This record gives sequence, structure tokens and C-alpha cells, in this order.
Amino acid sequence: MKLRIALIAHDNKKTAMVALAREFVPFLRRCTLSATGTTGKRLVDELGLDVERLLSGPLGGDLQIGARLATGEVDAIIFLRDPMTPQPHEPDINALVRASDVHDIPCATNLSTARLMLRQWMCAVQG
Ligand code: PGA
Repeated sequence: MKLRIALIAHDNKKTAMVALAREFVPFLRRCTLSATGTTGKRLVDELGLDVERLLSGPLGGDLQIGARLATGEVDAIIFLRDPMTPQPHEPDINALVRASDVHDIPCATNLSTARLMLRQWMCAVQG
């Protein structure tokens, strides 16, 4: 079964998300990808990835991903948060990260962790 990865990046992290995804495009093409609205649009427009776009984060996209995670429909999250900027949907962000801990789903909240996760999976897939 394909790995199901959800991708979220706050505004100041979106360019970093695109750069990260660019590094792993061949692998990501073999995954089932979903993302919050604007993050997903950038990944589609700039890298041509096949991404299911959910609502924008501040409009409930984080909660949609959290719900999928809770029902076993997401295997991992890459969530590039901006620790320097207050977010209007902070409660949703906390709910999503909490849900990942409750269900023990990998949730990378910075680039280094995301790279480690992606490299690990890539190696696993390549055998
Ligand atoms: P966005 O949502 O990808 O729609 O910008 C991300 C967020 O801010 O949570």
C-alpha cells in the first residue's frame, strides 16, 4: 500500500516545504499526498505533484487532517510550523499535533526531522 503523507506549511515555511518536496519528488510521486489548501497549491503548481487539496489551515484544513489521522487514513505528517509567528488557528494546530501523539503517527515539525523521515522511508521502499 502507498504511504499516505499529509503536508502542511505555515506561510513563512511554504518555500522551505516546496524545496524539501523537490528533493524527494520521485519518492513523493509514489505516495498518496494530501495537504492544506495553499500548501497543496504550491506543491501542485511548482512541482506538479498529485496532491489532494483540503481546506486552508485557518479554515479547518488542520482539523481535516487531524480527523483523517484519527481514523487511520494518514500514515505520517510533515508539518512545517512557524514558531515565530502567532497563528489564528493555534487551537487547531495543537489539536493536530495532539492527535498525532494520541495515535502515535510520525509528525515532523521541522525540516531536519522531515528529511530524516523521508530518507528512512525512501530507503525502506528501495529495499
Ligand atoms: P495553508 O494552511 O496551506 O492553507 O496555508 C496551512 C496553515 O496555515 O495551517
